[in-house]
Amino acid sequence: MRLTNSWHHLFYTKKWEIRQFLGYYSLYMERGFWYYVNISYTILCLLLTVVIYLVGYLKNKAGYTKPHFLVFLFASLLPFMGIVLILFTFGAWNIDYSALIMPISLLIISYGILKYDFLEIRTLARETIFENNFAGMVVLGPGKRIIDYNKAAETFFKAIHISLNHYPLEHLLAREPKLLEIFESEDSRDFSLMIEGEERFFEIDVVPLGDPQDSNTRMLKSIRDVTEERKIQEKLKLLATTDSLSGLYNRAEFMNLAKKEFARAKRNHEDLSLLIMDLDNFKTINDTFGHAAGDEVIREMGSILLTSFRKTHIAGRIGGEEFAVVLKNASLEEAKEAAEKCRETVSRKKVIYEGQEIAFSVSIGLAAIHGNADVNDIEDILKMADDALYKAKAKGRNCVAT
Ligand code: GH3
Ligand code: MG
Ligand code: MG
Repeated sequence: MRLTNSWHHLFYTKKWEIRQFLGYYSLYMERGFWYYVNISYTILCLLLTVVIYLVGYLKNKAGYTKPHFLVFLFASLLPFMGIVLILFTFGAWNIDYSALIMPISLLIISYGILKYDFLEIRTLARETIFENNFAGMVVLGPGKRIIDYNKAAETFFKAIHISLNHYPLEHLLAREPKLLEIFESEDSRDFSLMIEGEERFFEIDVVPLGDPQDSNTRMLKSIRDVTEERKIQEKLKLLATTDSLSGLYNRAEFMNLAKKEFARAKRNHEDLSLLIMDLDNFKTINDTFGHAAGDEVIREMGSILLTSFRKTHIAGRIGGEEFAVVLKNASLEEAKEAAEKCRETVSRKKVIYEGQEIAFSVSIGLAAIHGNADVNDIEDILKMADDALYKAKAKGRNCVAT
């Protein structure tokens, strides 16, 4: 039975007739132009719906929202069948199949909405947040297969020429054993990688998904580029631990490292020597050539100590024109030799400042602990070296005292 009204001539021609089929009578109306306009529009809408669900389905890369899209895809394909049946078999049966199929289709859609929270804003928001997160995210399923990933993860892997698909990890990351180990592990890890000639640092975190009892549990791996943070951290650390004028460790860092080295030497019954140096008559240099010239001398002293000691030992600027060096694993005799060499280098060095040649010299106080000597604190050995420095100054400067 079909309800119609006085506008029906927009859909059908004037040709009506009663037809008989399997003993039943039915009304036949011949289709007119606007009927086809209407049905074409309907088909177009349905087609778009199917395309939208199909794109959603494919974009989800076998993710956990895939079944949602499949349900809706199926529900929107059904009316198509109805239309095909109407178009091609209406003449024989005279039945509007779409009227029969639409309720089924609507039931399926209702099921999909209820079961998957499909219109729930939380679900939509989660999907958007996942997809657009700055952190790369990869969802691993049973067998460590990749079942979903976001744009940032795709970019990360593209940079190392790996395209993500559903192979197990060991297949995908066969060329990157280090990265494979990290991705297979269940701990958070740091990782660095050369990308276009630059070392970049990443933090790879893990969040288990689902029941942790289940051995085939899913994991969310998030990959965060922390290169800029690292650079800033390193810069801060450098600023906090070095003296900008001499380029040596500052007093705090020197004491920190010296303390550690002292404890280590005590523990291992090793020798350890300490030099304290003070530039001679520095006030005169400042007074004669100016404070800036004095700074230049301190800078030069820093570079002498850096080249002579910093590679294996600990050298710092511990005061205005005072420096100290911890010589690891060096006996008093060895340290004396090194100190003498350093003193000589300094006395031969000249700083040219604004065309003037500035000669300078250094006095060095030296102390050493031999094996498990009775010195229990770094302060004790510093005091001993300081006393020796005082002796060196008293002896006439530009010399080493122990
Ligand atoms: P001595 O041989 O006995 O050590 O004589 P000195 O003149 O070096 O005496 P002292 O060590 O007491 O003098 C240190 C001087 O170093 C005092 C201060 O003005 C100067 N000084 C300290 N820090 C700096 C600095 O960063 N730059 C410059 N240009 N001078 C500094
Ligand atoms: Mg001094
Ligand atoms: Mg001095």
